[in-house]
Amino acid sequence: MKWEEHVHRVVPYTPGEQPQKAGIIKLNTNECPYAPAPGVEQAIAGLDVEKFRLYPPFPEKTALAEELAAYYHIGTDQIFIGVGSDDVLSLAFMTFFQSGRPILFPDITYSFYDVWADVYRIPYEKRALDADFRICPADYKTPNGGVIFPNPNAPTGVLMPLEKVEEIVAANRDVVVIVDEAYIDFGGTSALPLIDKYDNLLVVQTFSKSRAMAGMRIGYAMGQPALIRYLNDVKYSVNSYTLNTAALALGAEAVRDGAYFASCCQKIIKTRERAEEELAKRGFVFPKSWANFIFASHKTISAREIFERLKENDIYVRWWDQERIRGYLRITIGTDEQMEALYRALDRICGQET
Ligand code: PMP
Repeated sequence: MKWEEHVHRVVPYTPGEQPQKAGIIKLNTNECPYAPAPGVEQAIAGLDVEKFRLYPPFPEKTALAEELAAYYHIGTDQIFIGVGSDDVLSLAFMTFFQSGRPILFPDITYSFYDVWADVYRIPYEKRALDADFRICPADYKTPNGGVIFPNPNAPTGVLMPLEKVEEIVAANRDVVVIVDEAYIDFGGTSALPLIDKYDNLLVVQTFSKSRAMAGMRIGYAMGQPALIRYLNDVKYSVNSYTLNTAALALGAEAVRDGAYFASCCQKIIKTRERAEEELAKRGFVFPKSWANFIFASHKTISAREIFERLKENDIYVRWWDQERIRGYLRITIGTDEQMEALYRALDRICGQET
């Protein structure tokens, strides 16, 4: 077919499975195992359905923007809100990575980065993590068209200390550096305070993990007002009404309950610490995780086999058939009960080392 010559062909990102079967244990997409803040449920009852008739308000003019600004002690003009951080990151690629020079990101990282680079025809170069899966700041000091990395990194869970993040931002003052902090609330130190000092730093976070609202699709970027204005200009050139009325209202409610948020994060950190012990007992090795998942490799049994056998037991984790990480499983931290079920299944699959 002639028209196929002019199709923009892309290889899409492969998201984790979303099985709909009842009773499964879903530890494959880093969702929060706990419900959103109780106020969110009450706010659903209070939604004015009559308002659904109207287009939604602009996110930057809503209570959600105000709540986030108050929580992070920044101005509403320093926040951009999008439909999950995937939307925010994709718009940021479109907006900031247009120099024609290659952007830089780690070889092992969030696998959406190369997909966006390809779809927007942005050249890129990958920089190898070291043998302990650490990002090496020195690798990001060559001329480039921008830099992006998650901190903690995904899918490894490895955290880069703030001084090293700053080293990368400081070495790249002529381009935008995006720090994807999808997992920062599980013990890491955010780069947010650096936005005052660096006009080239954009910090991106999400409601999908620590705020237990992946289904609402809310993500946000924080940076100096000029960065936020450029992002908004591109967003309003693509699609004006993105976040829906309900998500905007419910998101604001989630941010209001700071105590619930903090207690959820603490519970997950505690379960993760226990999981590190339990997995080690069963013959797994892993880098110290600062996220709501553990990236673990078994000393003798292949990750693929464990992945498949867990699935037969209705326990879903994530595995990539990809160089360097083929030997690893990414296991999301669930509730204590879900994790106990995982350990029991692993005992059957791997046996327990004594
Ligand atoms: N960044 C990283 C590193 C992630 O792992 C994810 C989750 N897949 C996202 C961004 C996107 O999350 P969301 O669009 O749900 O905010």
